[in-house]
Amino acid sequence: MPDQIKIQGGFVVVFEGIDGVGKSTQIERLKSHLEGLGYDVVTLRNLGGSPIGEALREVMLSETPRPPLTDMHISLAIQSALIDVIDQARAKGQIVLMDRGPYSLAAYQIYGTGIEGDLAWQHVEAGLDAIHPELSILMTADIETSLDRGREHSGKADYFESKPVEYFENVSQGYIEMADKYSMQILNANRPIEEIARDVSDLVGCGARWRSSGH
Ligand code: ADP
Repeated sequence: MPDQIKIQGGFVVVFEGIDGVGKSTQIERLKSHLEGLGYDVVTLRNLGGSPIGEALREVMLSETPRPPLTDMHISLAIQSALIDVIDQARAKGQIVLMDRGPYSLAAYQIYGTGIEGDLAWQHVEAGLDAIHPELSILMTADIETSLDRGREHSGKADYFESKPVEYFENVSQGYIEMADKYSMQILNANRPIEEIARDVSDLVGCGARWRSSGH
């Protein structure tokens, strides 16, 4: 097997959007596409992504009652472990495809739940500074369609997915505001999977400022 192509400093792509919008579907397709081209690709989920992160993910998605600020602190604990994993991937010259990133903390907890104060935003900014994604893609689709797709796919609604539709409207609005603020690329996900995948490949190709060894 030929050597995998490494990218100096790595390359991180974050996929964002509400549950069921099609993030994991596009991540899997992009992973196969890039691996087919010879790149070394890893996938990580923002809510998880490391052994301790995956354990805390279970806690986050459980129905255990807690105040909203507790969710924020659990997210931060997950994020700090994840940053370490991403740094290691960058050092190895890998492409990292992330199912969500620090934007989610803002979308779900600040815009969705309504946590107030500067602390949450400071954590979002700190996460973005540390992860520093080369490309962030926001997938947008009709909320009911996305939630139905997600529930059909997983068979049940988890702690966050079972919130009322207004919650997701606020989350979606938050994502749109952040797309502008943080130069996220918006993709209409109310389209066939293939069509979206072509746009994703184009965005990755255009956004690619990587220097591969041997290229
Ligand atoms: P997410 O990771 O954003 O929660 P998934 O990628 O798991 O979403 O997709 C949820 C469900 O919707 C899956 O069954 C998937 O096959 C389906 N799906 C994904 N993208 C589309 C699309 N563009 N059109 C129709 N169904 C889709």
